[in-house]
Amino acid sequence: MRVRVAVNGFGTIGKRVADAIAKQPDMELVGVTKTRPSFEATRAVEKGYPLYVAGSNGLGAFKAAGLPIAGTLADLLKKVDAVVDASPDKVGKENRKIYDAAGVRAVFQGGEKAEVAEASFNALGNFGACVGKRYLRVVSCNTTGLARAASIVIPNWGVDHWEATLVRRASDPAETKKGPINGIMPTFLLPSHHGPDVRTIFPGLSIATTAVVVPTTLMHVHVNHVFLKRAPAEAGELLSAFRRSPRFHVFAPWEHAEGTPQVMEYARDRGIGFNDMMENVLWEEGVRLDGRDLFFFQAIHQESIVVPENVDAIRAMFELAKDGRESIAKTDKALGLPLH
Ligand code: NAD
Repeated sequence: MRVRVAVNGFGTIGKRVADAIAKQPDMELVGVTKTRPSFEATRAVEKGYPLYVAGSNGLGAFKAAGLPIAGTLADLLKKVDAVVDASPDKVGKENRKIYDAAGVRAVFQGGEKAEVAEASFNALGNFGACVGKRYLRVVSCNTTGLARAASIVIPNWGVDHWEATLVRRASDPAETKKGPINGIMPTFLLPSHHGPDVRTIFPGLSIATTAVVVPTTLMHVHVNHVFLKRAPAEAGELLSAFRRSPRFHVFAPWEHAEGTPQVMEYARDRGIGFNDMMENVLWEEGVRLDGRDLFFFQAIHQESIVVPENVDAIRAMFELAKDGRESIAKTDKALGLPLH
């Protein structure tokens, strides 16, 4: 069975998810939507993705720009089994009414509240709980990073309590209307909303998060302090658990990937996706153990970390894999990510 998929919203996340779906052997990308002509609409056409119009602007501007249009979102939804909604924050909630009426299943993004879907999703964290659902929400980039790490730490050593400070990028590289460009902005919601969001994947987890926004576009960095239930014999045990897991990349000291600029330079060298880093990035030197206290840094490429999770969410909905590990292996092979 090949699941027929639409991507509604072809921006930072949507264009990456569309490429990822087009590469999966058990999925067919039927079309993508744009609300207005842009270079991204041109790229969709150049890639051979049928282009449909979403929103209320109509087809006129596309015709004037000479872009071939296959129809409207309503036309597209008639041809698919599922839609990935990658529209801006809170627009997905409105779109849900359209998907309900069309009778298609939908994957939403982390900019929506958890209530938009039947369950929140993370492939390593709770694939099994999401099997057969009609509506899923892939949690945000930061929550995906934390949930992946929790899915390694919790089963191996248990967690009494998790503290994380999120150093967040100010904007994505192509965004020019957000800041700061010179400052460090505390998030005064204490603790931040990320901890409760992680609990949509791990309901019993004691976790408190705080956040600051800094003037960078490359990645987020999480500073984690985890109070483990059982002490690993040594930090190496933790490192090898992260190394053995899909969706993690651990840099050794001799690689000289000292911070996010080198990590993203590695991503450009590697050339997966849009020169993306879809894995949680850890540094060997950035993992420390003091008795049952675990400290580690992880970097999160906000533009791409949720991309493979969107693919896995579709597999969970349509029961195309027996568990998360099988789906992850299929997704990662198709994307060219390292296999574990
Ligand atoms: P974006 O602004 O880059 O892309 C959104 C796209 O949706 C744009 O092309 C826009 O024109 C289009 N759009 C606007 N109104 C629409 C409508 N009514 N119907 C269909 N499409 C419409 O945004 P993004 O960064 O890709 O974010 C999309 C979602 O992914 C949000 O929920 C966001 O919170 C989440 N997310 C973003 C990031 C990130 O860092 N960029 C990371 C993880 C999750």
